[in-house]
Amino acid sequence: MRYLIIKFVIILGLLGFQSLQTVYAQEEPVVVRNEAIVDYPETVTFQLELETNEPITGATLTYHLGQDGCLEAGTQVPVEINGPELEWQWVMSRSGNPPPGADMTWQWTVKGPNNTTFTTAAKTLTFSDERFDWRTVETTSQDGPAPIRLHWYKGDDVGPVLLEAAVSGLDRLQQDTGIQLEGDVEFFIYGDSADMRDALLYVQDWAGGVAFSEYNTILIGVPPPLADDWGSRTVRHELAHLVIGQYARSCLGGSLPTWLSEGLAVYAEGDTDQQTLNDLEDGLQNDSFQPVRSLNGSFPARGEAATSAYSQSYSLVSFLLEEYGQEKIQELLLALAGAAGYDSALEQVYGFNADGLELAWREAIGAPPRVILPTPTRLVAAAIPTVEPLDAAKDWPTPQSQASLAETPAPKRDSLANDAVPTCSLGLAPLILIGGITIYSLKTQKGNKRATKS
Ligand SMILES: [Zn+2]
Repeated sequence: MRYLIIKFVIILGLLGFQSLQTVYAQEEPVVVRNEAIVDYPETVTFQLELETNEPITGATLTYHLGQDGCLEAGTQVPVEINGPELEWQWVMSRSGNPPPGADMTWQWTVKGPNNTTFTTAAKTLTFSDERFDWRTVETTSQDGPAPIRLHWYKGDDVGPVLLEAAVSGLDRLQQDTGIQLEGDVEFFIYGDSADMRDALLYVQDWAGGVAFSEYNTILIGVPPPLADDWGSRTVRHELAHLVIGQYARSCLGGSLPTWLSEGLAVYAEGDTDQQTLNDLEDGLQNDSFQPVRSLNGSFPARGEAATSAYSQSYSLVSFLLEEYGQEKIQELLLALAGAAGYDSALEQVYGFNADGLELAWREAIGAPPRVILPTPTRLVAAAIPTVEPLDAAKDWPTPQSQASLAETPAPKRDSLANDAVPTCSLGLAPLILIGGITIYSLKTQKGNKRATKS
């Protein structure tokens, strides 16, 4: 009997405890504070303070960058519990930072002692570079093309001039390639390339412009005196990288040969400039063009070899567009996005590989045929140049404009998101463009010298 009473009391107790637990579990914690403190571009500190009757036994933070990635998954991190105040810091120097204008959404999920869970409402913030007082100009749109927004802070005319360049460049690109911009695009125009590079943790020291096609965002450093010429061309060049990057986005590991992405970008800049004409003339006269296959990989960062690589790429793309039309270029981009190899994508669309392209192009421009070995040697790796050391040129525009002339192909930076986020390599890879095409830098330098003297 005594045993039965004890058992009864225990059961009652358990029931009571259980019902108490249920009551606690049903009382959701109250969010006292839920913040993300941004120290751009270094860190984001997430802080959550809860008022709760139950001890917290586990917590997870999920954050998601508003990019058009291949997977929608956010990054999830387990967070150490130290009472009702939770904190986790995203150190962007380990992952790369999203560009200004990028959106981030985050949510916390906390666990109670009985495996009850509570998830906070999603919050969103937009990354911004608050070192400068940004002004904004934008296109208006009524069912027309998607708007272009441009932010700048130095030189009154810079914003309107570059917006106009972007609008006309986009029109031309869409007309010539039939490829449309998806969504709207945001430009951040810094007063020089050093200011721009300070906003990005991973960028080449010579970069003057960067297109983040995953975020529809472009950053360029444009000193006001260069806005009309170099700046306008660079706006169109970077915009082309962004639009082509969207169109040829690959979640299968596909990529574009450098001659194709740079050739299209130079093509989109507008009228052929004198430097390009000179390079092509020199190439013809001295029979000094590079094998097309060697232009698949990175270009030299600067110097004559860089300018001629861009000029030759421009000529190759012009040849393909004029000879075979825009639909074939679209097919080629899609085949490459589908992870076809460079040669097989060309063969599939045009019926020739890189060597065949070279022969057809040389014939079209009046160059003698080049002897190509029957078994093509892979030249890609050997052709990738070493980028100049970091202490090379720090000032813009004079020494830096040299650098700004060169461009590099989209480096594979799949680190931007986070180790925990599976990402599309091409998407996350910002297309690091050199600020100005080599071609223009030479002109610019001359222009600067003239201006200084006068
Ligand atoms: Zn480029």
